[in-house]
Amino acid sequence: MQPKTSTLERWQFSAAVLLPVVLALVITAAAVLGFVFWSTANIDERALERQSAMFEQVIEARRIRLEHELASVAVRDDTVVNTRLMFNVNWVDRNLGKWMYEFFGHNRIVVLDALAQPLYMMEDGVSVEPRTYRHIASPVQQLVNRVRATVPPSIVPGGPPKPVSVSDFAVVEGLPAIISVMTIVSDTGAVVQPSGTEPLIVAVQFLNDDTASQFNNEYLFEDGHFSLVRSTGPDRATHPILNAAGRFVAFFDWERDRPGLMMLRQTGPALAAAFGVAAILVFLLLRQLRRSSAALEAGRRHAEHQAAHDRLTGLPNRMSFDVHLARVLTDRQGMGMGMQLSLLMLDLDRFKQVNDTLGHQAGDELICAVGQRIRAVVGPGVMIARLGGDEFAILAVSRDGRQDVAAMASAIIDAIGRSFDLNHFKAHVGVSIGIVNASGGNAEPRELVRKADIALYEAKAGGRNRAVVYEEHMNELLQLQHTIEGELREALLRDDQLSVAFQPLIDQRSRKVIGAEALARWHHPKYGQISPARFIPVAENTGLIEALGEFVLRRACELGARAPGRTIAVNISPTQLRNPRFSVQVFDILHQTGMRPVDLELEITESILLDDEHVSAQNLRTFRAAGIHIALDDFGTGYSSLSYLKRYPVDRIKIDRSFVSQLSEGHVSVAITQAIVTLAHAMEIEVTAEGVESEEQAVILGRLGCNTLQGFLFSGGVVAERITAIFADKANSLHRRRRTKAA
Ligand code: C2E
Ligand code: CA
Ligand code: CA
Repeated sequence: MQPKTSTLERWQFSAAVLLPVVLALVITAAAVLGFVFWSTANIDERALERQSAMFEQVIEARRIRLEHELASVAVRDDTVVNTRLMFNVNWVDRNLGKWMYEFFGHNRIVVLDALAQPLYMMEDGVSVEPRTYRHIASPVQQLVNRVRATVPPSIVPGGPPKPVSVSDFAVVEGLPAIISVMTIVSDTGAVVQPSGTEPLIVAVQFLNDDTASQFNNEYLFEDGHFSLVRSTGPDRATHPILNAAGRFVAFFDWERDRPGLMMLRQTGPALAAAFGVAAILVFLLLRQLRRSSAALEAGRRHAEHQAAHDRLTGLPNRMSFDVHLARVLTDRQGMGMGMQLSLLMLDLDRFKQVNDTLGHQAGDELICAVGQRIRAVVGPGVMIARLGGDEFAILAVSRDGRQDVAAMASAIIDAIGRSFDLNHFKAHVGVSIGIVNASGGNAEPRELVRKADIALYEAKAGGRNRAVVYEEHMNELLQLQHTIEGELREALLRDDQLSVAFQPLIDQRSRKVIGAEALARWHHPKYGQISPARFIPVAENTGLIEALGEFVLRRACELGARAPGRTIAVNISPTQLRNPRFSVQVFDILHQTGMRPVDLELEITESILLDDEHVSAQNLRTFRAAGIHIALDDFGTGYSSLSYLKRYPVDRIKIDRSFVSQLSEGHVSVAITQAIVTLAHAMEIEVTAEGVESEEQAVILGRLGCNTLQGFLFSGGVVAERITAIFADKANSLHRRRRTKAA
């Protein structure tokens, strides 16, 4: 049996295992992702820094290069000659303007005189009116001023003069540009010019798309542009170009290099796949874990069920019954007094016989069937437990206090009383039930169980196959039970407590007293009359029966000696009969009292016939050989099989009073009794009916051919003197005094 995982368990599993694992997975993923993004951004940032630094160097190199290019024409004797001494516009146009444009790609070349007035101007390879200079004069003039303000580097005496040169970034004609201004000087020193009077040559190199594409090709900027406004967009990098004074001139912007992002794009899918695989692995692991933990849980619950239930019937066992009872009692305190709780203790009657005669397997089957019948009676909501052996317990709880436990108990007795079909045999058992009601007040589990047990004991002592509700006085009786042994031992030593009563035996036909049955009586000074049904079992269990039996036998024989010809019946316990010295004891007493053996009748019970006791059989044979009669007592309560009587011949059977009490005209018991009497007579066995309480029973028994009658209809047990008087009565009849007071 594999119990299904419940929603609660699944929830617990999720909370205890799933949640932390998933959380750990998510945190790990987040950490890894975070680190990846952080390092990507970091790498990209550094790449950007590197590119910016490189751009700074590149643009600076470009400015310096412009100066060098300018120097190649500014420091020359023929330039000085053709610009200062004798301005030759053709030469200037060819060797400065066009040359610089074609060779170096300068966009503007201007030649200024000593007063910084334009002498020549070239625009993109074409010579233009010198006046055009005014378009670019403003940014250029600042550099001119700086040149004029610069003291020329000292000249080595006799050596050539050094030019003064200034270059810077500026916006020219609305475009970013590099401007370089340089004094025109002799390269040989042949032409000497006073400082500050040298003509100037100006070169303007626009930072336009051509320059940008050169940068892009040479320095691997991607899609670089110069512009006056900062370009936006996440992938564009921008670097400002500042002039010598630190003023903003332009931006260079380009598609930024993103090695980190590239790396991420390359490794991203692999990373995602790794995470996916990890997630799947974790999922599979978790599923496996959940399955095995579910299996474990199922196993644990199975074991728990095994431990809490009886294997034979599947009912809860004593352990779980105790737990359940304690819990119900605790709950009850919270529920208030309206709730009624009844505890029923059940014990099968005659179960041992079934087990002994039909075998243990049949016994097991019977126990199962009993459990089912009880369940059928009490319904599904009531707890039934098997406490062990043939003991059951029922815990009936009623919220409104309106349950009829007595009706339930009698329904159970009826159900168990019907015959059981066991493996081709029919078996009859009964059940004794002890009930304790715990309505209101506090109840302690052990106390309740004890009280139910006491009631059960009462039910058994009261004749079995009945239900008894616990009453407080029973407790005292039970206490007495514990002390009975000691008290009985004491009573046997004295002569004022124990006595023997004699119940007359009546001849059915003549209704004359033909004898008496000796019955032990115990009058306790404190507890009053104690029933033999209570102290005989104790005596049997403790061995005191030997002394008690001898006492009764002696009294009976004393009476028998005084009344020869009357049958005196004495009850004999199985324990006595199993004693090898018992027959000797009987003969001794007969001898001592002077009673005739033929007047003595020993009453034995069916259980003696069942056990294969060699000694018992030997004793019985000895008695019969000596003329002592043997009567089979309580016939109809046990196996009631006359077949035993072939092995152990008896002289009389005594039909039990429980059987006799059912006798009424038209009842099935009449036919059964008839059959018993007929069979017994066929085997030459006499029949006594005991417990005759009504005339109707006496009449029926008479018609059926019963030989002897015994019962309260005629007389209960009476003291020895009284029975002697009855014997002495000539009429030998109890007719006029129907019910002699019982002793
Ligand atoms: P039992 O041998 O079946 O004795 C008959 C019992 O039925 C006696 O109960 C008697 O008082 C009672 N009885 C007689 N007539 C009627 C009647 O009309 N109606 C009802 N309801 N009961 C009637 P008692 O004296 O209480 O004895 C109980 C049992 O104790 C006896 O049952 C017997 O088995 C046992 N017992 C009594 N004395 C001795 C004894 O000295 N030795 C042994 N071993 N057992 C004894
Ligand atoms: Ca008897
Ligand atoms: Ca009897």
